Amino acid sequence: MQKGSIEVKTENIFPIIKKFLYSDHEIFLRELVSNAVDATQKIKTLATSGQFKDELGDITIQVEVDKKKKTITIRDRGIGMTQDEVEKYINQIAFSSAEEFVKKFKTKTEAEANAIIGHFGLGFYSSFMVSEKVTLRTKTYKKGGSTKAVQWECDGSPEYTMTEIDKKDRGTEVVLHIDKENLDFLEEYKLRELLTKYCKFLPVPIQFGTKKEQEPIEGETDKDGNPKTKTIEKPWMINNTSPLWKKAPSDSTDEDYKSFYRELYPMNFDEPLFQIHLNVDYPFNLTGILYFPKVKHNYELQRNKIQLYCNQVFVTDSVEGIVPDFLTMLHGVIDSPDIPLNVSRSFLQSDQNVKKISSHISKKVADKLEDLFKKDRENFEKKWDDIKIFIQYGMISDPKFYERAEKFVLLKNTEGKFFTLEEYEKHIEGQQKDKHKKLIYLYSSNKEEQFGYIEQATSRGYDVLLMDGVLDSHFVNTMEQKLKDAGFARVDSNTIEKLIEKDDTVLPSKLDDTQKESIKEAFERNIDKKQFELAFENLSESDSPVMITQNEFMRRMKDMSVLGGGPMMGLGDLPDSYTLVVNANHPSISKLADADDAERDSTISQLYDLARLSKNLLKGKALNDFIQRNLTRL
Ligand code: ADP
Repeated sequence: MQKGSIEVKTENIFPIIKKFLYSDHEIFLRELVSNAVDATQKIKTLATSGQFKDELGDITIQVEVDKKKKTITIRDRGIGMTQDEVEKYINQIAFSSAEEFVKKFKTKTEAEANAIIGHFGLGFYSSFMVSEKVTLRTKTYKKGGSTKAVQWECDGSPEYTMTEIDKKDRGTEVVLHIDKENLDFLEEYKLRELLTKYCKFLPVPIQFGTKKEQEPIEGETDKDGNPKTKTIEKPWMINNTSPLWKKAPSDSTDEDYKSFYRELYPMNFDEPLFQIHLNVDYPFNLTGILYFPKVKHNYELQRNKIQLYCNQVFVTDSVEGIVPDFLTMLHGVIDSPDIPLNVSRSFLQSDQNVKKISSHISKKVADKLEDLFKKDRENFEKKWDDIKIFIQYGMISDPKFYERAEKFVLLKNTEGKFFTLEEYEKHIEGQQKDKHKKLIYLYSSNKEEQFGYIEQATSRGYDVLLMDGVLDSHFVNTMEQKLKDAGFARVDSNTIEKLIEKDDTVLPSKLDDTQKESIKEAFERNIDKKQFELAFENLSESDSPVMITQNEFMRRMKDMSVLGGGPMMGLGDLPDSYTLVVNANHPSISKLADADDAERDSTISQLYDLARLSKNLLKGKALNDFIQRNLTRL
């Protein structure tokens, strides 16, 4: 037996590994299984190139747990190591890289440390996060010379022992003697959960325990004619060694994508809308599949569903900084060996490579959407309500994406017809230019509530867009900034004559100034002046006698403050800013010129209530009074 001491340059790193690297103890499993996978991949490569001529045999990696002995074993049939190699790789290289990792780790703040610890760097020595002793037994695939099997053992001090042993099988076995603080890792369900999390798509089969399954007995049926079954015990395989994202997009069917989605999210019963298969090899390496999920209004809750892999090893499911922000709402996987993982998040976000990756993903997504739009517009329109949130979010937050999306972003009008930006501009160009040659996009945020206002616009031959999505008010702002000589106005934000001012819409008044003044006074007596501003307009006789409008600018401010992130954030509740517009030319108003006070009050309160009712502003006692008053008229 050989005893030795791992060369410690600065200080003993074992207590640090144990104590300070506390938050993500579970990654030891990923590190050790990854090593086993690497060793197995290497022997496979040697076999393919003819350098290894023996039988490969079963290369399944075995993970075992022994609750009584308090051990976890990871066993592979990879290339193994000679004694010299253990000395070199485990005692020297692995140790110094662990040492370096620990040093780096120690200079970080806790938040940064937590961000990097989940990523790569610690390697083999991460086993000491959970073990009081680690035993490694290994036999190299090489023949002759000093190629005897060897056992290395270390109890978490810089001292280790190395012994020649008898081991028939090629490969490496690492036995972790789990320490008192980490006994919960010996629970089978916990270990299985971790293996599933980190190793679900590793390229070498991994077995952990067995599972019982029902299997039909050939030729035997019960009295109802159903085949009889027997219980059989099968090895429980953890992983799918060739996940769909590694395949060529041209070899993958729609059904493949759907079933892979179920594999990724067994608890999610919705089907994805469609997917984008990423396959990049220049200037960086990246594969993956991004799914557009069906989103409900709680889209905030859906973030962080994308899983990031590094050569099929799960790394993290928080992908901010790597994927453009608006795509963090997508589902799926991204696999890249080129994303630097053992660095802090702030570094990641400023890393040039990562920026390139991010903008490339954004471009790919735009390309795919454009493709879908061009190939099958009908289907694209059908999916529009579900995908519009992603596209709008992208256009709001990423100017480059805005440019790309201009070609396929759709606008829907209140009749349910879809237009591209270019088509819509043409559609309204003749009608909806005001006297300053500005093109006015009319929109409604609620078809039901704004029914009357929409009618007013459409009866004049104007088109009204339906903008009733969660991001629409933001989106309107973005579009307004981008479109030249155009403005957006919600149908209820003013009278239609004011919304699209034309030179020929100035109608003469039927009332003279004194009549107007006295009717105004009567109105002021009857309305809540705190809630409503009063305005007299000369509209046509067919327009409503009174209507309530809501100032566009103030309402947008309010919308933004509610959504958050807008310029008014933090100002608290803004009041609604309503105007009661009186149509001085309507017969029921001009009639008031000759009426006495009692008659005026009665007509005005009826008109006032009706206006409020149509805007859903008549409530409580006022609503009840209105109903009672009208019942007595029957
Ligand atoms: P890394 O895997 O990042 O190189 P590790 O500390 O995990 O760092 O491992 C150090 C080295 O030890 C590996 O590069 C490899 O040469 C060797 N090694 C570790 N585990 C195994 C194994 N299961 N089979 C063969 N060699 C191994």
